[in-house]
Formats: sequence, structure tokens, C-alpha cells
Amino acid sequence: MEKIVFATNNAHKLEEVRRMLGGRFELLSLSDIGCHDDIPENGDTFEDNALAKARWVKDRYGYDCFADDSGIEADGLGGAPGVHSARYAGAHGDDEANNRKLLAELEGVANRHGRFRCSIVLLMGDDEPRVFNGAVEGEIMHAPSGSGGFGYDPLFRPDGWDCSFAEVAPDRKHAISHRGRAVAALVEYLAAKGC
Ligand code: IMP
Repeated sequence: MEKIVFATNNAHKLEEVRRMLGGRFELLSLSDIGCHDDIPENGDTFEDNALAKARWVKDRYGYDCFADDSGIEADGLGGAPGVHSARYAGAHGDDEANNRKLLAELEGVANRHGRFRCSIVLLMGDDEPRVFNGAVEGEIMHAPSGSGGFGYDPLFRPDGWDCSFAEVAPDRKHAISHRGRAVAALVEYLAAKGC
């Protein structure tokens, strides 16, 4: 089976993407290929960051690779935390602190609308980079609800839902999520290419 690297060590993301890719590829994480580098993520957009991560892996480790960058944008905060979602409260990936900060920043802000966004960049062989984007619109709730998922899931209620992303089974989330949509576009592209 062909190997492809998903440039992440986030177990939640790996599991989400592995389900969607099905048996097409052997999906390897960064630690699977012995990459423990602190890959710089200094871009101004999700796409820039995803490209930088994919490029890092392809150039240094030689694998076909895709990388994602994702985050949440609150319209009432001018799109923050955006590309800074993972370290909004300081430490990288402290979900509880990030959620507390988002709630604090939105206190007294009337517009609670926002979205999750995800960009995936694929580097395969000598092909030009391919970009796949996904977004899901919704509302940032006033308090966390649910214990599933990760990150800002307990605070995010997609438009048309009466509960948060953290209150449903993973498949229900993936069906409409930013990452689900971007991965679906990636999978469609790979299938059309005959992979
Ligand atoms: P990344 O790993 O650099 O893409 O960082 C993305 C950050 O955005 C994560 O640490 C989460 O805080 C947030 N995020 C991205 N996708 C999701 C999601 O599906 N649910 C909840 N939070 C997410």
C-alpha cells in the first residue's frame, strides 16, 4: 500500500482523517517517520502554514505528504483567534485555557457568529502543491457543552444544530466539519487521480 504522511501528531486529527481516507493509503504521522521537529508555523493564513508544514516534511523526509492548518474565527473579534487558535491562551494546545480566553474575549460582544476553517496542502511527487479548503459556519456558545472532540468543539454550535460539536459522535461532526469537507475534497482528488 502506498505510504502518505499526514504532517501532524494530533491523535484526534489522525483518527478523523484515517476514517475518511479508508484503506487507500497507509497513513503515517510525523512521529511514525521519526520527525520530532518543531516545524515553524508563522504564516498569516491557514494555507501558508499548511504549505510550510507539508514542504518541511517533503523536503527533509522525502515522503508524499499533506498537512493541514485549521482554527476558529470569531466575527465579533475580527476573525481572532484564526491562525493563532492553537496557542491563543499562551501554551500550545491548552484547550481549556483557549476556550476560557475565547469566552472572556467575547463577553459583552453581541456578534457570536464564526466558523472553523481548514486548509489542506498536498505535495505529491513533483506535482505543484494542491490546496483543499473547508469551512463550517456557526455560533460560539456562552458556555462549554459536551465532552467529545477536542479544541473549541464544546463552544461551537454549527448553524442549524441545537448542540455543540462536542455533543455528537465523531461521524456526525465529520459529515459537516471544516476538516471533513477539506479531507473529502482531498479524497475526491486522489480518487480522480487513480490513487
Ligand atoms: P493546528 O493543529 O495548527 O491546525 O491548530 C488548530 C487549532 O485550532 C487546534 O489546536 C484547536 O484549538 C483548533 N481547532 C482546529 N480544528 C478544530 C476542531 O475540529 N475542533 C475544535 N478545535 C479545532
